[in-house]
Amino acid sequence: MTGLLENKVAVITGAGRGIGKAIALVYAENGAKVCCMARSKHEIDETVTRIKNGGGEALAISCDVTDYQSLENAFEKAVEEFGAVDIVVIDAGVDCDNSPVDELDLKVWKDVIETNLTGAFYTAKVSIPYLKKRSGGKIITIGSGLGHKGREGKAPYSCSKAGLWMLTRVLAQELSQYDISVNELIPGPVNTNMGNDCKKDNKSVFSIDDEWIKTPDDVRNIAMFLATQPLIGPTAQSYSLMRRDL
Ligand code: NDP
Repeated sequence: MTGLLENKVAVITGAGRGIGKAIALVYAENGAKVCCMARSKHEIDETVTRIKNGGGEALAISCDVTDYQSLENAFEKAVEEFGAVDIVVIDAGVDCDNSPVDELDLKVWKDVIETNLTGAFYTAKVSIPYLKKRSGGKIITIGSGLGHKGREGKAPYSCSKAGLWMLTRVLAQELSQYDISVNELIPGPVNTNMGNDCKKDNKSVFSIDDEWIKTPDDVRNIAMFLATQPLIGPTAQSYSLMRRDL
């Protein structure tokens, strides 16, 4: 398969459904070899089957981003199979509650921070030695407007994404000397399974009045834009698909 991402290997956490799956599919359509990671094997297998049916190359590797060893093993497998890592999309995330802080279950706080922030840190840490071996590596973090502005009832999620934005900026500074760019992609509300437990009216859990509610495919173009920037391209930046001000 030929395309803008020919000869590139992309690792995408959270590639079993939603936004991560849409990004996996578009990268594969553009010639990347794609490693799809998530906990649910049947979902990443489905993503890989779709890619292969379309003539692309992909591999499903089950892993849990809250488990450092699991990520190390997954990246080792990815490199064994495809030889390198050029693009890392840190997409895996959860959101499962709308409680104010005084009513918040301690476990919810811990789970959301562990997945969205610690999991992102682990993913970046494991990937860096591989990215340093290539020219023009890219890390794309999937952030949120809530990480810049916050919202009532969303303390764990907002704080996890605020941390992710800061991690993005710190990584960008640390990695610019290796020509690795690190940018944040903020999709805005996308209708996915995320937050099913606390959705209202079957809309994205992140819906806000007058904001464009997207499908995962609406994120394809900006994900391609970030993966195809030149060697000395933008870094430490946040790219938002939201129409309203963050
Ligand atoms: P989905 O729930 O559809 O997909 C989440 C993906 O993350 C799944 O593949 C899930 O697979 C994976 N995942 C969750 N926990 C882990 C874990 N511990 N280890 C490995 N993989 C994990 O959500 P979205 O597509 O909506 O969200 C994707 C990203 O986009 C998230 O970071 C989210 O915060 C962000 N985002 C979403 C918005 C929206 O409106 N939907 C808005 C702004 C940002 P599995 O459960 O099988 O592990």
